[in-house]
Amino acid sequence: MPANRVLVIGAGPAGLSATKELQALGVDVVLVERESYLGGTPKKLKYSLLFPELRPASEVLDPLIKAGEAVKTRYMESIVDKVQQEGDNFVVTIKDKNGKTYTEKVGAIIAASGFEHFDSRRKYEYGYGIIPNIYNISDIEGMLSENRLVTTKGTPPKRVAILLCVGSRDATVGNTHCSRVCCAVSIKQAMEIKERIPDAVVHIYYMDIRTYGLMEDKLYWKAQLNYRVGFIRGRISEFMRGPNDTVVIKGEDTMNLNRALVVPYDMVILANGMELGLGSKQVAKVLGLEFEEHGFVRPMDPDRLPVLSTRKGVFLAGAITGPKTISDSITEGQAAAIKAYEYVSKGIWEEAPRKVAAEVVKH
Ligand code: SF4
Repeated sequence: MPANRVLVIGAGPAGLSATKELQALGVDVVLVERESYLGGTPKKLKYSLLFPELRPASEVLDPLIKAGEAVKTRYMESIVDKVQQEGDNFVVTIKDKNGKTYTEKVGAIIAASGFEHFDSRRKYEYGYGIIPNIYNISDIEGMLSENRLVTTKGTPPKRVAILLCVGSRDATVGNTHCSRVCCAVSIKQAMEIKERIPDAVVHIYYMDIRTYGLMEDKLYWKAQLNYRVGFIRGRISEFMRGPNDTVVIKGEDTMNLNRALVVPYDMVILANGMELGLGSKQVAKVLGLEFEEHGFVRPMDPDRLPVLSTRKGVFLAGAITGPKTISDSITEGQAAAIKAYEYVSKGIWEEAPRKVAAEVVKH
């Protein structure tokens, strides 16, 4: 039987949620995090309000961070360097930032090392990092939570454009997937901007709006009816630097006979999507996991066994398998913890026929 001890890799919402659940089940946890803090990307980027309920991110994250702090065997600023199978167990070598190594023996592993935001500099025509007053949605979260949403002139922006699908649904950067959350985050940010600067004009440029499920009313209609956020279906080809540090958007309005758009704004926000980061790639490699066609880690069976990996005893949670909301990541953390508990306490491991997984990849 595997040891009653589980290694959790990653201390974001998915990893911390798995940790919390394992603690409740009486399983010993070893936690490894490559950064110096607990809370993952939401903590790093200082997320302000979470969609769709617009509640402070800290309300959701703080209890999870507390669970992470309670783990005695915790390695911060460290990576999993080597994993060796020893009977039903794994012998794991952990390396810290000084190169010092440690060994831990565990019965199961939960990989929850998450995603990275698309680097908008790869869409050079949008001028991110070159033209002033162009930001990513991931930059804006911190500016909102720290109350410093101002242009380079130090004044609140009066005209704001948000461009969706930056680095997602875009074969030119190798990402054909939809990142699932950026429509909702962008609309949430538009409402937050209008809440703080009521006379600001905020336009969202889109291909499609994907505020699926219950978010349609809570975000899409609310933004238009209560906040007067404008939605423009268009194709934006480039941004140019305008006078007085304005940003001029050039493109086509695809709803109105493809009329040309040349519109100045004080601030432009790029809805940069999600990719599997280098950290998760390293984790997948060291664990011997498989990748699916978009570059994320492939579960055993995405429909039936989404938190089981293709390697026995290794479980998956959160955005390592594809773009996820924070609540989805927390749910998957809980599911992975329960499956890992079943595995270390009763030896339960369900195999999916290889054919099933292979067919899913083809589509
Ligand atoms: S969620 Fe919206 S902005 Fe993000 S990739 Fe999908 S359609 Fe584009």
